[in-house]
Amino acid sequence: MAQEDIFKKLVAHCKEYGYVFQSSEIYDGLGAVYDYGQNGVELKNNIKKYWWDSMVLLHENVVGIDSAIFMHPTIWKASGHVDAFNDPLIDNKDSKKRYRADVLIEEQLAKYEEKMDKEVAKAQKRFGDAFDEKQFRETNPRVLANQEKWNALHARFSDALNASDLAELKQIIEDEGIVCPISGSRNWTDVRQFNLMFSTDMGSTADGALKIYLRPETAQGIFVNYLNVQKTGRMKLPFGIAQIGKAFRNEIVARQFIFRMREFEQMEMQFFVKPGTELDWFDKWKETRINWHRALGFGDENYRFHVHEKLAHYANAAVDVEYKFPFGFKEVEGIHSRTDFDLSQHQKYSGKKIQYFDPELGESYVPYVVETSIGVDRMFLQVVAASYCEEEVESNGKKDTRVVMKLPPVLAPVKLAVMPLVKKDGLPEKAREIIDDLKFDFNCQYDEKDSIGKRYRRQDAIGTPFCVTVDHQTLEDQTVTIRFRDTMEQERVAIAELKNMIADQVSFKKLFAKLK
Ligand code: ATP
Repeated sequence: MAQEDIFKKLVAHCKEYGYVFQSSEIYDGLGAVYDYGQNGVELKNNIKKYWWDSMVLLHENVVGIDSAIFMHPTIWKASGHVDAFNDPLIDNKDSKKRYRADVLIEEQLAKYEEKMDKEVAKAQKRFGDAFDEKQFRETNPRVLANQEKWNALHARFSDALNASDLAELKQIIEDEGIVCPISGSRNWTDVRQFNLMFSTDMGSTADGALKIYLRPETAQGIFVNYLNVQKTGRMKLPFGIAQIGKAFRNEIVARQFIFRMREFEQMEMQFFVKPGTELDWFDKWKETRINWHRALGFGDENYRFHVHEKLAHYANAAVDVEYKFPFGFKEVEGIHSRTDFDLSQHQKYSGKKIQYFDPELGESYVPYVVETSIGVDRMFLQVVAASYCEEEVESNGKKDTRVVMKLPPVLAPVKLAVMPLVKKDGLPEKAREIIDDLKFDFNCQYDEKDSIGKRYRRQDAIGTPFCVTVDHQTLEDQTVTIRFRDTMEQERVAIAELKNMIADQVSFKKLFAKLK
């Protein structure tokens, strides 16, 4: 099945099984805003717990905060967001559709890459084991021609971005013959800058209302609390402050479901270090963060680092962790070495000294910062995309397809479903008894409707790792059948064993042990 079709199915599945709903759906929805349903919120909370505990519990020198969404407007002046948090936009005059000029060009670069990859794949088929990819890429004329086009475009694009040259971005789009995917035409407007911050008014107009912004990132709430946390927590450098919270961006093109939203959630950690040590810490956090992703077991080959070509003016190193989504490798997390830019700016704009007294050196300085920044929603999409699976199975001697969410059990919204085989003979009561015993440890679900086979499928679709069936034998010997989601194997076990058995499989502790 084509990857786009799988993605469409995933989106439909998320709705059907209570993971993600379009916001304000009964009013025809609101662009790029989504709500999380009864299963979605559980998965989201588990992802947040995985991140929070791995940062705050596992690192003695990382603490958390929760700052307000509304902040003093001068913060966004100091951070550069008022003047420079822009995307270059371009409209197609025929379709009236709006695009990000930089994304159109990036997609063109990806087309050249695809062409090269296709040549390689063809040759690989032809030559089999004897195939030398490196040599082929260095000598094949068609690959070389595309590589040359890629290099030229890439260089031109980087120069235009670095110079914020909007006319050149348009020229590139014209020279490359990039067409609007909807109208197919090249009838483009000029490229303009568009600020992504939402604003609103605080206070009544009579008082002289204050124009404030909905924060476009959670990081600034950390920077402006640096002194508070350092002093009250008696923190010594290096130390980090972590925060999870909502962020808002008026994205020009909001596509691909919850990949790019206008209201989303971020998990950010700012790590304050002594100047000159930031690049070592940058490497350490790169390693720590990629291990965090890999520990979920979705396959190391599906992650890669993407080093930024264009560094933001305040950064001296930046890398993205990318995951292979059904629509290609895309950013899930950013790791940035932000120098002393933010704290220095806040020092300048607030007039307050924001420094650290280093007892070893006997002097004060503005700390440098390494940031790790990941979107909860994008991580959610990564997890469901990696877990969604359609499998051919045999059912009563017939071929059938089952849809199963192979979520890591530790993240699964529902850990176990308890099902009485029939709705009589005291079996429902026994099932309830088991739930009453386990519900303080795990999120359990009771299910008595339809045949057992149908109930299994329903739980597979939600991603429930364990189904426990209560039958007549249970009443006699206190044993149940436990069925495992991924293998569909069943085992007879004592009720008394259930807690330990499940706890072992859904344990955060076990997952954290992999991070060492
Ligand atoms: P992109 O290039 O995809 O717009 P970005 O580089 O602007 O992302 P950052 O500002 O570094 O992103 O934000 C950090 C993380 O926040 C991203 O890696 C992503 O996971 C998440 N994120 C950013 N914008 C959005 C959005 N509009 N919707 C959902 N998640 C987002």
